[in-house]
Amino acid sequence: MRKISLMGATGSIGMQTLDVIRENKEQFELTAISAGRNIAETRKIIQEFNPRLVSVQLKEDAEVLKNEVAHGTKVLWGEEGLLETACHQDTDVLVNAVLGSVGLFPTLRAIEAGKTIAIANKETLVTAGHIVMEAAARNQVSLLPVDSEHSAIFQCLQGENTKNIESLIITASGGSFRDRTRTELEGVTVDEALNHPNWSMGAKITIDSATMMNKGLEVIEAHWLFGIPYENIKVLLHRESIIHSMVEFHDSSVMAQLGTPDMRVPIQYALTFPDRFARPRGGRLNLAEIGKLHFEEMDFERFRCLEYCFEAGKAGGSMPAVLNAANEAAVARFLNGEISFLDIETLIEKSLTKHELIKQPDLEAIREIDSETRRFVNELNLG
Ligand code: NDP
Ligand code: MG
Repeated sequence: MRKISLMGATGSIGMQTLDVIRENKEQFELTAISAGRNIAETRKIIQEFNPRLVSVQLKEDAEVLKNEVAHGTKVLWGEEGLLETACHQDTDVLVNAVLGSVGLFPTLRAIEAGKTIAIANKETLVTAGHIVMEAAARNQVSLLPVDSEHSAIFQCLQGENTKNIESLIITASGGSFRDRTRTELEGVTVDEALNHPNWSMGAKITIDSATMMNKGLEVIEAHWLFGIPYENIKVLLHRESIIHSMVEFHDSSVMAQLGTPDMRVPIQYALTFPDRFARPRGGRLNLAEIGKLHFEEMDFERFRCLEYCFEAGKAGGSMPAVLNAANEAAVARFLNGEISFLDIETLIEKSLTKHELIKQPDLEAIREIDSETRRFVNELNLG
């Protein structure tokens, strides 16, 4: 029986992780969960899975839940609650599916506690990849990718030696606006941006897919997870999202991992690795039915956020933390109807330009840079 802690249980990845646990009740037990503000959904999860620890974002919600849960269920809130969820004593694997850089400190706490981590929360690795990877190596903790592209690369690398890698080829669906010109992006609405052609995901990552920021964050995530220089990470537009990513080796061989777009597959692989459990037969890949797969070069002029990510990644140090915090704050403002779609990249660019690079930021510096950048983005009036 593998015991699982799930951060972000009420989110898109969280709910799909619950599907995987539900489908494999004999193998998995959910021992701890964290949620944000969706208390109705949290209640349902508690009723179904009866976790020993529940953490929510707000104190008042925790007080309400405390009066409802069975005796012996611990209810916590806020950052302390996330930290305890991450390193719960009855946990073997932490699934980190919380949204945003709030996932960083709990990840580090889980690493220190020696937990295996299935990592969906890419903002953690973007914000402080150097600290997280060093801590994981020091504590001999495995970080198993959940993001479909990284799971694909990880699967292609089984039995391989990373010294033989020529390049990583990360595929991109192109997001909601892949067929629009820059002029056509002016004035697009929140609803249009939230309408992703292939994947059903949380709001923030759907916007990140439309700006191509998601792909850029994934480039930085891949750099840290697989230790590959940015010069050797490529992005390829692939509309169908069937090839989830590829690895090219020095001998010119290219390995790819394929499947229908269903996040439950990489989630389950991270939970069963190095084994594979069966999945329901429906919705399997049928290449004859699909017929054709398409590939195109990325347009870096059209998708400026992707370029910012490569630049911030190569600059290293504190720059990716600025990039991530600026993006989180700008996307929140767009979702709130405060700024236009193209303002997202303007705010990110302004944040990056203003920042003075710190080469080896420690955790305290990262925390400060994260809040300082959010404040800057939230206060900037683009007029
Ligand atoms: P969602 O927005 O759907 O879910 C986010 C989860 O985090 C919710 O449970 C939410 O709680 C919780 N949460 C948000 N803010 C806080 C906070 N401050 N404190 C505690 N809990 C919080 O996001 P996704 O599931 O789409 O994405 C989660 C992560 O996985 C992201 O890092 C994303 O990049 C990554 N990812 C997602 C993929 C997808 O298909 N969705 C694919 C690959 C990676 P509540 O809803 O209760 O408020
Ligand atoms: Mg992805």
